[in-house]
Amino acid sequence: MEDFTGTTGVTRLRTSRTIIDDESRYLAHNYRPLPVVITEGDGAWVTDVEGRRYLDALCAYSALNFGHRNPSLMQATLEQLGRITLTSRAFHNDQLGPFAEELCALTGYDMMLPMNTGAEAVETALKLARLWGYRVKGVRPNRAEIIVASGNFHGRTISLVSFSDDVQARAGFGPYTPGFVAVPYGDADALEQAITKNTVAVLLEPIQGEAGVLLPPDGYLAQVRRSTERHAVLLIADEVQSGLGRTGATLETERVGVRPDLVTLGKALGGGVVPVSAVVGNRDVMGVVRPGEHGSTFGGNPLACSVGRAVVALLDTGVPQANARWLGAELGKELEALTSSGVVGYRQVGLWAGIDVDPALGSGRDVCEALLRHGVLAKDTHGSTLRLAPPLTLTDDELDYVCAALTAALDELA
Ligand SMILES: *Cc1c(COP(=O)(O)O)cnc(C)c1O
Repeated sequence: MEDFTGTTGVTRLRTSRTIIDDESRYLAHNYRPLPVVITEGDGAWVTDVEGRRYLDALCAYSALNFGHRNPSLMQATLEQLGRITLTSRAFHNDQLGPFAEELCALTGYDMMLPMNTGAEAVETALKLARLWGYRVKGVRPNRAEIIVASGNFHGRTISLVSFSDDVQARAGFGPYTPGFVAVPYGDADALEQAITKNTVAVLLEPIQGEAGVLLPPDGYLAQVRRSTERHAVLLIADEVQSGLGRTGATLETERVGVRPDLVTLGKALGGGVVPVSAVVGNRDVMGVVRPGEHGSTFGGNPLACSVGRAVVALLDTGVPQANARWLGAELGKELEALTSSGVVGYRQVGLWAGIDVDPALGSGRDVCEALLRHGVLAKDTHGSTLRLAPPLTLTDDELDYVCAALTAALDELA
């Protein structure tokens, strides 16, 4: 706790309560956070202003895959802070080229295009797909169609919410961007039937994170890949949340043996330090964009690139992915055991789980508040589903701590 002199000139103690009250006066209410005020983080753990410690099992929706203040990411950040942080793309900098090369080597693609947030990476992929459609596939001007899935989450821009079916995310933001067609997620036949001569791309999350960690049926992505290939349609995988180790592989599409034309990355690519996102793909698609057609003031800045390079170096060792696989197997066993006490269903892959709690026990929010009392931070999504995404650097003991807290929270609500 620290003393704080606000605009009123009155000094008062900054407790969680006063901080939350002050914040809600000055901050737009586009979120409803859990009542905890974090001031420090280290690995899987955070500390609030009263000195209470919590295990962070949300990890900023997988933006903190390597934990808080990961030592090698901190070292890269501090070294780069001592050199230069921003150049703009009007000039070259000495970090962007190596970052591009290293990210391409990690993911197995020819080229990358750097942006900042996940939404920008997805927008970029959609723009590339439209350019490709007009310049390579020969679609007539302004006719391009892109197929998306029900239940999708790709970010918050007007175009991205235009094809969301989440009422809260979409309602009130029209008029909506045309050119998108939605089909049920997991139904590869419906998707193939929606392809027309104007279809340039299919945009999918390999696993739908925001929708509750929904895994598609086995073989779905492979079947979609075959039909997109047959009809000369690009497959774009949005791996902003599923990618970079979360599911036990560098890319979830790689884990299921599918190679998309474009992959969007974000969240963990910035190591929890700065926003870093990118589209990776092969030269035949990435090569369509020409100078002046797309850009970002901050995209590819040297600070972002040095952090991104350190993230790639971590994933290059294969250690985070292996830990996600190993601990994921443990997590699966623990969740199985909970199905008799308050858990009515769950999906889990690697260190990522969507857990449906018996609505009789309370809402997802109630479970998260109970978890908070037991020292674990997590987030609900859609009703009574709880999402867990602890850091991939978790230890066995820390996983036990999370599972014990979950058991205790469910007991408390029962
Ligand atoms: C979080 C997320 C995004 C948007 O990322 P932002 O950095 O919040 O813009 C896009 N796609 C998926 C799958 C995501 O999980």
